[in-house]
Amino acid sequence: MPTFVRTDKCDGCKGQDKAACLYICPHDLMKLDQDGSETGHAMRAFNQEPEQCWECYACVKICPQQAIECRHYADVVPLGGSVQPVRGADSIMWTVQFRSGNTKRFKFPIRTTPEGSIDPYGSKPAADIAKIGEPGYFTLGGVQKSGDPDELIRK
Ligand code: SF4
Ligand code: SF4
Repeated sequence: MPTFVRTDKCDGCKGQDKAACLYICPHDLMKLDQDGSETGHAMRAFNQEPEQCWECYACVKICPQQAIECRHYADVVPLGGSVQPVRGADSIMWTVQFRSGNTKRFKFPIRTTPEGSIDPYGSKPAADIAKIGEPGYFTLGGVQKSGDPDELIRK
């Protein structure tokens, strides 16, 4: 279910250095149409290769305008239905709109620590770029271990 940008909601992340969806897409699919020459909508983002979309929905969750939605497969979400996440600081609110018009909302917590408090490299030693080519470097806490052929499943 690849994503698409609603041009009526997207504001191009207000012309900042890098739009959020461009920053987060792991496949580099989102693009900002600076002058409108590609889509007819200047300063709006678009998914430039929907068939390559991983469907990870990182862009859907990060967009501050809730401007990114996904094209649902008809056999998963019947026509007229939609699923839309709205990301908050500590949770995501999913709004499910059924074909009948019924709406359900689910709120899921997404973190257990205050936003911005995580230090991902706090317990790791400082990287030594000179050693970066050594096997096992930075993965075994400084202990080098040569490979043991007996540990291989297929020899
Ligand atoms: S993150 Fe949202 S508002 Fe920002 S450029 Fe992408 S679609 Fe537009
Ligand atoms: S769903 Fe994932 S892969 Fe697809 S455009 Fe969004 S961030 Fe990129």
